[in-house]
Amino acid sequence: MLRPGNFLLLLLAINPFTFAQQLDQARRIQSGVLGIDGHNDTAQRVLIEHVDISKRLPDGMVDIPRLQEGGVHVPFFALWVPTYYHGSEAVRRTLDLRDAMQSVFNQHPDQIELATSARDIQRIVGQKKIAAVLTIEGGHQIDDDFSVLRTYHRLGILSMTLTHFRYNDWADSSTSPPMHNGLTDFGRQVVREMNAIGMIVDVSHVSDKTFYDAIAVSTKPVIASHSSCRSMSDIPRNMTDDMLRALARNGGVVGVNFGGAFLNVADAEELKKAVASSTAEVNLTGAALDAYAAKEQIEGGSIHPKTGHATVDDAAACIDHIIKVAGIDHVGIGSDFDGIGTVPQGLEDVSKMPNLTAALLKRGYTEADIQKIMGGNFLRVIREVVGQ
Ligand SMILES: [Zn+2]
Repeated sequence: MLRPGNFLLLLLAINPFTFAQQLDQARRIQSGVLGIDGHNDTAQRVLIEHVDISKRLPDGMVDIPRLQEGGVHVPFFALWVPTYYHGSEAVRRTLDLRDAMQSVFNQHPDQIELATSARDIQRIVGQKKIAAVLTIEGGHQIDDDFSVLRTYHRLGILSMTLTHFRYNDWADSSTSPPMHNGLTDFGRQVVREMNAIGMIVDVSHVSDKTFYDAIAVSTKPVIASHSSCRSMSDIPRNMTDDMLRALARNGGVVGVNFGGAFLNVADAEELKKAVASSTAEVNLTGAALDAYAAKEQIEGGSIHPKTGHATVDDAAACIDHIIKVAGIDHVGIGSDFDGIGTVPQGLEDVSKMPNLTAALLKRGYTEADIQKIMGGNFLRVIREVVGQ
């Protein structure tokens, strides 16, 4: 017989979690995952603004306390150099960023350490510290020189995005006119060399043709460290369903970008502004060029981001879409925190990651699925490409 008390039990059985319980469960799961974020732009803040990421910052989206709170133990810090740095200037700037991150490691060895292998990651995270992975973002940073590429690898840099917003001498970008019809022969050699030395090829930012060329050449899984779904926001920086399927066949992983423009087409206008400012031609060198880059960084909008139309559920919906198209083994997180001017409601900084986990639980994902999404898939690629 269905008495009122039984009816309540029946209701609880159908919907066992209130939102608060779901968030509690999400926090518990998030604190137990090995959390990897395939892309942030925090290194710029360290170099230009001299922020101390060992303490909770009043602005921006990433620091060590908030990484720990959000369960992101393995952030990929992009040593990004704008494409208006040319040739040896781009190499110098990469070394400045590498050096700035080294001073963080040297000053806070109890909180953060450089990781250059899967084993490093597990050891450092096991010690409750942040395992920092360093990457470079833009093939122009090697100045068309394999010895520069190999030296970056020896400096502990584990991956390279083939282009940034603008084409370089050997690869087309998704946000500038095609110059090479994808990868040139030299560009294919870059991919082969990265495979050979154990550096991950990152296909975020590249043109669709460059993407397919890179996938065809690479004998190792590639990543799209910070890209989302073109089916949800039709911008060239996002991945089509066909690209997602090709990435899955390659064994790769796409890290979902949290930028408003990437998740919700209503916020897409912002991307155009970002492309225009960072692909501008600037006839400066040395200290004057660095001062220009500093001004761009400070005025760029990521230090005091705004919320737009995108929400944490849009991020969950994009993850859901990728899983439906490519499978559970090919999706991860690539927040782009500290590099985006519009953040989703509910995902304003890295400490809010449990909200995303709660949104995934609501969609029916299990703890095992969430472990893969939050870092397990990226860790597999690191193991396969970089090594144990
Ligand atoms: Zn980027």
